[in-house]
Amino acid sequence: MTTPALPADIAFIERDWLSANHIMLRDGTGATLIDTGYGKFNAVTLARVAETLDGWGGCELERIINTHIHSDHIGGNAELQRQHRGCSIAVPAAEQSALVHWDSPEQMLSYADQQAERFAWDEVIDAGQTLRLGGEEWQTIATPGHDMGSLVLYAPRLRILIAADALWEHGMGFVPPQAIDAAALPAQRATLERLAALDVALVIPGHGPMFTDFRGALARAMAKLEALAADDLRVARSVVKGMFVYSMMWRETMPRAELPDYVARVGVHRDYNAQFFRMSNEAYAEWLCAEAVKTGRVRIEGDRLVSV
Ligand SMILES: [Zn+2]
Repeated sequence: MTTPALPADIAFIERDWLSANHIMLRDGTGATLIDTGYGKFNAVTLARVAETLDGWGGCELERIINTHIHSDHIGGNAELQRQHRGCSIAVPAAEQSALVHWDSPEQMLSYADQQAERFAWDEVIDAGQTLRLGGEEWQTIATPGHDMGSLVLYAPRLRILIAADALWEHGMGFVPPQAIDAAALPAQRATLERLAALDVALVIPGHGPMFTDFRGALARAMAKLEALAADDLRVARSVVKGMFVYSMMWRETMPRAELPDYVARVGVHRDYNAQFFRMSNEAYAEWLCAEAVKTGRVRIEGDRLVSV
């Protein structure tokens, strides 16, 4: 099945697993950008945004909206605001306290060995609001779980869902183990149930291409979530593995000898090891390294780990 074309005032910019996808929406001479990628790749973000603005006859970037505050969704905020003077930043209202306490463990920033430039926001968006973007009305929907403050946007007339990390074609963003955050998994389950009530023809996810099989994606995400609900240790393993592979992707390389110190220093590894695995730093580092290699995204080259 071919993916339906988007209206001319809506642009989808697909990125990758390090940087979340962007969605741009034009209203007259102004444009809104949803999510801004991972900071290390700001040059790509700026170029892709500029390309879209040029394609729209030199329209101005007026507003950034973040679906949630993970590093791969907010990384370009500060730089884009410097480059596009007058551009405002809107964040979900439920993310404000996390932003005030910048870099708390829940944000999975330095706690998960990720980086993002701090930014000031100009506006907050609540769940249940209607926003006019790209000439269409979008409802904001709370999607706690993967991130407890996250919002998604739904256009009933177009039947389009901007799903961020609440729903991907094959799964969803990580959900922490119940022993770490008892509220997250039930919240994600309720989020999927809430989304299931929508009439959706096209999903624009936070990562991966757009897709039309909304019902299939919901079923896959729910099955995955229930499998995780039954096995907290499996969740813990997949979170630390995912975080390490992500860090390797932006770091690109790391001396193997540094790994025991690294896992003792980085919060998610230190705390999850203490709570779930109870290995020495050396044994945990070795296990993590082997698991990362198994994913095919990291390989060992002599005395270094490199991302593939
Ligand atoms: Zn996320």
